[in-house]
Amino acid sequence: MASTYTGIEWTDRTWNPTIGCNKVSPGCTHCYAEALTKRFRQNFPNGFDLTLHRERIKQPLRWRKPSRIFVNSMSDLFHEGVPIEFLKDVFDVMGQTRQHTYQILTKRHKRLAELAPQLDWHNNIWMGVSVENQDYVHRVDSLRQVPANVRFLSCEPLLGNLELDLTGIHWVIVGGESGNKYRPMKLEWAQSIRDQCQSSGVAFFFKQWGGRTPKARGRELDGKIWGEMPQSYDNYRRRQDAVIH
Ligand code: SF4
Repeated sequence: MASTYTGIEWTDRTWNPTIGCNKVSPGCTHCYAEALTKRFRQNFPNGFDLTLHRERIKQPLRWRKPSRIFVNSMSDLFHEGVPIEFLKDVFDVMGQTRQHTYQILTKRHKRLAELAPQLDWHNNIWMGVSVENQDYVHRVDSLRQVPANVRFLSCEPLLGNLELDLTGIHWVIVGGESGNKYRPMKLEWAQSIRDQCQSSGVAFFFKQWGGRTPKARGRELDGKIWGEMPQSYDNYRRRQDAVIH
């Protein structure tokens, strides 16, 4: 799976210069990337072992249509097995393709904060961390140290109530788990994060309730679809539209 258009609501396509990972926290328990490598074994000869795909690093140079690109939907770019030189090459390509917006999400918050000063944070790069329950809110402190144009949280699968410090955070995504063994998300957990975003002026995106299938229980929260995006993205998109039309 080199690059695909995707059903993920908050992005347009994926780019996977690395594939594979290993689990670091409860949000990983039913990792969908691992499930995909098992389901389509023929496409993943190394299974879910971390594999660097250098031949994919330059792919976005060929994609002309401005897109939101989720980097590494099948891995974690800040995995300890990804060398800094490889990361620099990935960031270099992102800098050469300013027509795109790149969305990177990690659970390796320590390595992110450690390596961030060595990377070029072009303003088309959005950086996020996953926070699934209160035990992992410290990931947000690491993210705050990163000089990305947009810093975001992915609270998916949301596994508990969160009390967040949203200082320096621009966007929060919330979603429930899906699959046969899904862990249900409580209404009040999602409402609380939405309310914290609203009182802090942070964009809130409610992705889905989850259930046996991703769309089983829809994506309305209190009768409304919440699809807010960070302000700088709206401005960026307006500039792109002005260039295109
Ligand atoms: S960090 Fe992400 S890709 Fe890696 S095991 Fe956890 S959920 Fe899967």
